[in-house]
Amino acid sequence: MGIFTKLVGAGAVGGFLGACYVFNDPSRTQPSFDSTHMLPLKFEQQPTRQQTVGWLRTFNTANNVLDILVVGGGAVGCGVALDASTRGWKVGLVEANDYASGTSSRSTKLIHGGVRYLEKAVLHLDPQQYNLVAEALHERAIMINQAPHLCRPLPTFIPCYDAIEVIKYYSAMKLYDAIAAVNRGTLLNSYFKRPVECLNVFRKMTHEDKDRQLLLGGVVYYDGQMDDARFCVSTALTAASYGAAVTNHTELVSATQVTVGDEQLVKAEVFDRIHKTTFSVYTRCLVNAGGPFSDSIRKLAGDKRRESLVPSSGTHITLPAQYCPKDIAMLVPSQDGRVTFAVPWLGSCIVGTTDAPTSISWNPRGTVQEVSFLLNSLARYVGPIDSKEVKSVWCGIRPLSVKLPPSTASEDSEEQSSSSSKPLSTKDVVREHNVDVDVVHRMVSVTGGKWTTYRKMAEDVVTAVSTSGMLNGSPSHAATTPCVTENIKLVGARQTAAAATPTSSTLLSEGGGVADDVRRRWESAFGDRAPLVASEAALMASKRRWGSTSDAAKTLPGVTAQSITEAEIRYCALFEHCETVSDYLQRRSRLAFLNVAEARAAAPRVGEVMGDALGWSSKQRDDHVKDALASLVQFTVGS
Ligand SMILES: Cc1cc2nc3c(=O)[nH]c(=O)nc-3n(C[C@H](O)[C@H](O)[C@H](O)COP(=O)(O)OP(=O)(O)OC[C@H]3O[C@@H](n4cnc5c(N)ncnc54)[C@H](O)[C@@H]3O)c2cc1C
Repeated sequence: MGIFTKLVGAGAVGGFLGACYVFNDPSRTQPSFDSTHMLPLKFEQQPTRQQTVGWLRTFNTANNVLDILVVGGGAVGCGVALDASTRGWKVGLVEANDYASGTSSRSTKLIHGGVRYLEKAVLHLDPQQYNLVAEALHERAIMINQAPHLCRPLPTFIPCYDAIEVIKYYSAMKLYDAIAAVNRGTLLNSYFKRPVECLNVFRKMTHEDKDRQLLLGGVVYYDGQMDDARFCVSTALTAASYGAAVTNHTELVSATQVTVGDEQLVKAEVFDRIHKTTFSVYTRCLVNAGGPFSDSIRKLAGDKRRESLVPSSGTHITLPAQYCPKDIAMLVPSQDGRVTFAVPWLGSCIVGTTDAPTSISWNPRGTVQEVSFLLNSLARYVGPIDSKEVKSVWCGIRPLSVKLPPSTASEDSEEQSSSSSKPLSTKDVVREHNVDVDVVHRMVSVTGGKWTTYRKMAEDVVTAVSTSGMLNGSPSHAATTPCVTENIKLVGARQTAAAATPTSSTLLSEGGGVADDVRRRWESAFGDRAPLVASEAALMASKRRWGSTSDAAKTLPGVTAQSITEAEIRYCALFEHCETVSDYLQRRSRLAFLNVAEARAAAPRVGEVMGDALGWSSKQRDDHVKDALASLVQFTVGS
């Protein structure tokens, strides 16, 4: 053996041992974040919807122009508003319904690199899939740092029924750890669990699967978990606190390119669904973050290129907590080779997701077939499950897309657009995100990606807008900075001492009049804003009709799935842009996702408390409750 070969061999062994040493202790590769120089908020108390709509309405002449108007208030749109406002651009956002009312409240709630993509990266030696995993693993640590009260590391175990599975999953998850480590995304490292330990944590699990194969153990790996809708609302409120005119229940109804002097602008017409009025907004550029609706938004601006979306839908079901282990999720390989998860979430167990081609609709519903597919997948490991155990069913649409051809002015003719149309199939789809810069219609569209990469998608979009030339005429141009969102914490995670008052601190202390489960709920949902919720409880008590403080801080009668209180409902109505009973039941609390029957029962009381906070007439209150009850149908099985 030559000296060169010996050196290479020794280097390889040394490298392997070194890597084992480094990767074995997660603290050596966990990222650290520097919040000491975090950009200060413009407004410590988050602006109300009334304020942000007021700001947006001031951009109604060609003399007062936004730099960027974001269309869509899901994960990506709110991320873009946060990124652009912290760089110094003048930003507005319109969301036709509520923040996260589209796909962004209907995810599996995982902050993950994607074990599915890892498999493809390894089996097909596909660098694109590898990059997806690496990027998402980097982003997952950032997300958890941005809002630790809404996120947590989540161990997930993969049951193994033969030796090949043990070797395959164990080495795959060690590779996952290594990719996380080199991309500064380590949470905790994976390990093997013996069968008896698996059965101890997951008491419902059987030691044989349906095909009578014996459980050999499980591989446990780490990802993150979040409350997706509350994360999105917090991103919107943080962007507003940095001065962005972020608004919900405002729909873009038309967008026209106009020339003012020697500048090209867009005149957008926006319909305020709460006040039933339409107003104009002038902007230098539109960012289309419409998720599944992004093709229709492109068309509103006059872009006649072909459709870019290949929508696929995914359904989840919610079961009682005992179907999941308490603090650990389970990856359930399904009969057809797809991956399903059973995940403990907010005291229940969610199981999902399916993946099927679909058409685009505002309120998609899961089908009977999808529900039985999910029940059967889990039943393989825990025995038969009665369909009466299903407490809620919900469905979301993935905005997967293909790349568009470049936009040219001549493509505005119908003839050319139809000749460029080709039928799309899912095999053309890339799971990474696409950013399409269309200078002709002054619109940048973003599609694809996933929740976990929302921040990186936003960064790429704002960089694309900033370098497109569309903002060259902006007075803000000279003072803007590069992206700073890696180190930005969301409202609720900024440890603002100003939020606490002596009364609220007493209430939140042990034995201070607020039950433990309610205190935990306030702290995990509102973070450092929990004292403000407690202040609302005290304030409500000071008005005679609300009784004592503890009444406003008591959980609603008949609601067991989540510890929700009148004080929390009032706080959301006043400070979290919660404008309808549905906003509260579906996205400020998550009751509709956890137990639709309880959400139905709670709707009238939620209507009363919100009506009192927002000054609704009794007719307005009844209408809101009626709308909320109608909207809850989407949490039941469709045909
Ligand atoms: C079933 C399922 C499970 C998933 N699980 C995970 C997961 O566990 N982890 C993960 O990382 N990713 C997951 N994803 C992916 C992730 O949820 C999506 O990629 C992400 O939520 C998409 O966000 P978005 O902002 O692009 O779209 P959306 O959230 O759909 O937002 C688009 C918004 O645009 C608004 N809009 C449309 N038209 C207009 C208009 N004219 N004017 C104003 N507003 C308008 C809509 O109301 C909507 O709110 C999952 C996806 C699905 C479907």
